[in-house]
Amino acid sequence: MISLTDVTKVYPGGVTALAGVSLTIARGELVAIVGPSGSGKSTMLHMLGTLDRPSSGSVRVEGYDAGALSDARLSALRARRIGFVFQRFHLAGGTTALENVADGLLYSGLRSAERRRRAAQALRRVGLGHRMHHEPQELSGGERQRVAVARAVAGDPPLLLADEPTGALDSVSGLGVMRLLRELHGAGTTVVIITHDREIADSLPRRVRMRDGRVVEDTTEHGVRDRAPEVVR
Ligand code: ADP
Repeated sequence: MISLTDVTKVYPGGVTALAGVSLTIARGELVAIVGPSGSGKSTMLHMLGTLDRPSSGSVRVEGYDAGALSDARLSALRARRIGFVFQRFHLAGGTTALENVADGLLYSGLRSAERRRRAAQALRRVGLGHRMHHEPQELSGGERQRVAVARAVAGDPPLLLADEPTGALDSVSGLGVMRLLRELHGAGTTVVIITHDREIADSLPRRVRMRDGRVVEDTTEHGVRDRAPEVVR
């Protein structure tokens, strides 16, 4: 579904955030990305989500070479195929959950009434049918993150990328959000989650460990799939 090949990312100022990453994620996987702060996890998620372009190397999404697409075509691909969830929800205040989710479909080409219908459906799917007309500030952290998940999946993207989705939540709300992400995975969505939470990571079928801009370990339920040479001794 998505693959990085020899991807590097050097930020302006000279920080090498990714130092040659190759990774393939197949349709239907549920993957944790783990590693210390600053190891390149968010940068890698940005590459997987085509939110940013690599300094070198290639990114393929569902057969498309992201590097060969114009910014406009890349945005269109992203809008239809990839949902994003962030630690801090990124919801607009002063407007309802329904509008927040519907606005996530602005670039879908759907008419306003259809956007609202799908938004309502997505909110019901995440268990917030009764909170649609509430504004984010009237919702708990866990509910806000559910709204953010609803926004991410309202267009039914095959791929969901989440950057520390439980990082700003208490443990009970965090468990609720994880349960929701598992349900989406169970229904067929490919899900990639950055997490600092050891328990969450250990509960997922595949874990990709980053350090210093590299993948140092890639483990599945069936054992170690790949390990960087320097940690194999
Ligand atoms: P993680 O998600 O594992 O904490 P990041 O991908 O956020 O790691 O960051 C990797 C490295 O790149 C860090 O050294 C960070 O300071 C740097 N970095 C991240 N984003 C930027 C940016 N926009 N500009 C410059 N440096 C950045």
